Amino acid sequence: MSQQGYVATPPYSQSQPGIGLSPPHYGHYGDPSHAGSPPGMMKPAGPLGAAAPGGMLPHGPSPPGPQQFGQNGAHAQGHPPQRFPGPPPVNSAAPSYAPYSPSTQSSYLSPASTASVTQLASQLNAMHINSYGSGMAPPGQGPPGPPSAPLFQGLPRPPQPSIMQPGSQVLPPPPTALNGPGASPLPPSTHRQDGLPGPAPLNAQYQPPPVPGQTLGTGYSPQQAASYGGGQLSYPGGFPGGPAQLAGPPQLQKKLDPDSIPSPIQVIENDRATRGGQVYATNSRGQVPPLVTTDCVIQDQGNASPRYIRCTTYCFPCTSDMAKQAQIPLAAVIKPFATIPSNETPLYLVNHGENGPVRCNRCKAYMCPFMQFIEGGRRYQCGFCNCVNDVPPFYFQHLDHIGRRLDHYEKPELSLGSYEYVATLDYCRKNKPPNPPAFIFMIDVSYSNIKNGLVKLICEELKTVLEKLPKEEQEETSAIRVGFITYNKVLHFFNVKSNLAQPQMMVVTDVGEVFVPLLDGFLVNYQESQSVIHNLLDQIPEMFADSNENETVFAPVIQAGMEALKAADCPGKLFIFHSSLPTAEAPGKLKNRDDKKLINTDKEKTLFQPQTNVYDSLAKDCVAHGCCVTLFLFPSQYVDVASLGLVPQLTGGTLYKYNNFQMHMDSQQFLNDLRNDIEKKIGFDAIMRIRTSTGFRATDFFGGIFMNNTTDVEMAAIDCDKAVTVEFKHDDKLAEDSGALIQCAVLYTTTGGQRRLRIHNLSLNCSSQLADLYKSCETDALINFFAKSAFKAVLHQPLKVIREILVNQTAHMLACYRKNCASPSAASQLILPDSMKVLPVYMNCLLKNCVLLSRPEISTDERAYQRQLVMTMGVADSQLFFYPQLLPIHTLDVKSTTLPTAIRCSESRLSEEGIFLLANGLNMFLWLGVSSPPELIQGIFNVPSFAHINTDMTTLPEVGNPYSQTLRMIISIIQQKRPYSMKLTIVKQREQPEMVFRQFLVEDKGLYGGSSYVDFLCCVHKEICQLLN
Ligand SMILES: [Zn+2]
Repeated sequence: MSQQGYVATPPYSQSQPGIGLSPPHYGHYGDPSHAGSPPGMMKPAGPLGAAAPGGMLPHGPSPPGPQQFGQNGAHAQGHPPQRFPGPPPVNSAAPSYAPYSPSTQSSYLSPASTASVTQLASQLNAMHINSYGSGMAPPGQGPPGPPSAPLFQGLPRPPQPSIMQPGSQVLPPPPTALNGPGASPLPPSTHRQDGLPGPAPLNAQYQPPPVPGQTLGTGYSPQQAASYGGGQLSYPGGFPGGPAQLAGPPQLQKKLDPDSIPSPIQVIENDRATRGGQVYATNSRGQVPPLVTTDCVIQDQGNASPRYIRCTTYCFPCTSDMAKQAQIPLAAVIKPFATIPSNETPLYLVNHGENGPVRCNRCKAYMCPFMQFIEGGRRYQCGFCNCVNDVPPFYFQHLDHIGRRLDHYEKPELSLGSYEYVATLDYCRKNKPPNPPAFIFMIDVSYSNIKNGLVKLICEELKTVLEKLPKEEQEETSAIRVGFITYNKVLHFFNVKSNLAQPQMMVVTDVGEVFVPLLDGFLVNYQESQSVIHNLLDQIPEMFADSNENETVFAPVIQAGMEALKAADCPGKLFIFHSSLPTAEAPGKLKNRDDKKLINTDKEKTLFQPQTNVYDSLAKDCVAHGCCVTLFLFPSQYVDVASLGLVPQLTGGTLYKYNNFQMHMDSQQFLNDLRNDIEKKIGFDAIMRIRTSTGFRATDFFGGIFMNNTTDVEMAAIDCDKAVTVEFKHDDKLAEDSGALIQCAVLYTTTGGQRRLRIHNLSLNCSSQLADLYKSCETDALINFFAKSAFKAVLHQPLKVIREILVNQTAHMLACYRKNCASPSAASQLILPDSMKVLPVYMNCLLKNCVLLSRPEISTDERAYQRQLVMTMGVADSQLFFYPQLLPIHTLDVKSTTLPTAIRCSESRLSEEGIFLLANGLNMFLWLGVSSPPELIQGIFNVPSFAHINTDMTTLPEVGNPYSQTLRMIISIIQQKRPYSMKLTIVKQREQPEMVFRQFLVEDKGLYGGSSYVDFLCCVHKEICQLLN
């Protein structure tokens, strides 16, 4: 968990009219492409800042004293973790597998949850959830109209039954037509079977039938109910109620109307409606960008695009006291190599020749729009440390009447948020230009991989994908060299030099001390050696066809690849295709230490830790030599992902995992991943440095990174899908007028072997008003931060403690808002800031993720895998991962190219006449209701009925029918831009595989624990009430 646990930082600010920039005229930068050909490109440089020409350590503004890497959140002073009632007991109804009918709502009706239903109903009735765009609207008068503002009080609704609390006094209901004597308390059965978008289901659901005289009839207006409930605000016992609350006669129960609590879909759709399809210009400080789920065109006008940097809040609190008060994490999620759509301008390349980039003498910040030129242009004041610097003679330019350089719009570094610099030799390792990177393919040829055809599949595919090695835009062919190794207990190196008639193999049996047996001919240019390479790839499957070797090594494989890169003096990437637990005698040998008994104990964390420190030191060596490791895993049993995945994670590589790989079902997914991975944009041998203006600094980093000190973020490589999340803390006061400035600089080697600096700048507001802070928050970024900090903490703390901290901090953030920013109202009201309306639902998804909450059907390896994946996710990927996209397919308009509007992830939204597509970035499901329309089934599957659908398929058949075409198009749109190929699973309603699918209906109570959204909201509300008291 991040240092200081979850204590977040500060608040706010004023909307500043930008940073004094007026809209630039585009097209004045000369060649916008990366063609700027570097007079002198080089090699890995010293640490970004550290390596200023001259080798001075770039010190930030006056070093803020010893870093306060405090205890983890659990021990953070001042806020002892509140007890979170933990997951409800395993629902005994789970295996029985109830069909979808509103009357079954299995998640709510099990005996174990009866108490919570009661409790819930009363809480819900008691609370009014309002969201105030301005933070100040009085309750009951929320913004009219926009569906974005869930308003829970005063909504015109049919009469609702009031709520009963255990032991509460029974109020005689005023007789009405509905509840007159003898009237059944059961409401008309208005529940829609389907839960499809349509009229909100009529509120109440009763269960079990109330005892006469104890129920409240209908007829109370919501207001009455509210005040009634409001009087019940002390929550007896823990939530969700203990057995004590079960005692007594059956109570009237009310199911909360899920349509009345904030909907993630509504929030997403509202943002799309207001900001989608527009141009978003980054010209003003502290402006909150559109959500990651909204498509728009981004125009850089002085701040980095949100595709590169997103923040948890765009307004920082002025003081650390304010920050502590609100506990909102101050963090940025940085994706320095994010893919930019073709309709947006690519980064300009600035080349100052031998002069190199212009930098502040004191803090080493790079020239950027935050530097203020003075004295007729002869000097400039650094926006980060305030140092006044001389402008180097080659860079001098006169100022205009408003003090701006005459060449303002001609220089990207003066007017844009993001750009690149050609780096000079000072930024290269050993002051030499770097060699182009190399890719080494390393194939596990042990018995099972040969037998199941995997080795053959890989070899065949490589022949194709090697044609697509990444290259510089202006180059004819790729500069990347390639090499090949196979292994089981020993390593086989191959000489594929272009002048050979046949490839040559060299075996290294000493896996304890791996050396590289050949230099010349190991790493080659693919085009030159194509025939030898194809020859080799044809031979490999045969070469080991008779091998019975089951045992494998793993650490020596990485070691070998790294040594080969080292010997060739180049950075690079290893592609390892591996299947088993490495049990052969060698460094990094692993044993099966999976132990379900550790679950829910203080030792559970060890399941996420590597079982030997060999991999940790190997990762460190790899990073030091610019060796990135990407691992394709094909496990059929426990392989210890926590250990095997460590090097990929820390070297900026990717871990792909295909459980029980079966050629006919899984090869497409694997091949898509392999192609994507080889072709993706990537920077090698990278060092990232975050500079900030005075008053705050980066204190913690999460991602595929390695840090040898507290400031230099080292990455063997970083690709377009990887993000680093950075947390900031105050070390002084921030000023509202100057704001908070962030500069992210990444020094790296391109695939063509050029040394470059990529700079991203972002300016945030600062305020001494808490309301400003809350107004500028971004929940998707907050969840990204919370997930990473929690998943990092998993290595050191009991999961229960981590969950408690998350719940506690959520409640704290919301309570602070309630207390300081919302207008006075009854304590029973739950009031959520507009920017955090969906924080509870997303937070609950995080809490239920299998990393933080074990489930019997999820393996230890799967948990370790998901933990590692999330650590490098950007905001868009984490948003989808925690709250999957669920689309109704049966309502498709085959004439339209837009995706259908998503629905909320809850069983109650499905219908047995419907077909739904669900995706979370890793998995994709097509769920078919038992009464799916036959014409749709025919159209999609080309079979006559539901019963004829073969659920073994992982891709849809290509049927020449508009339904089929549209659905396949939708699937490809969803898949686009996602780093992992999603395997499609066909799920029929009421068949066993549906159990897996149900786990993704994240608003519902989990089959094996994990609260429903409604329950969690009540839990948070209760915590808030306690904090306010
Ligand atoms: Zn400076």
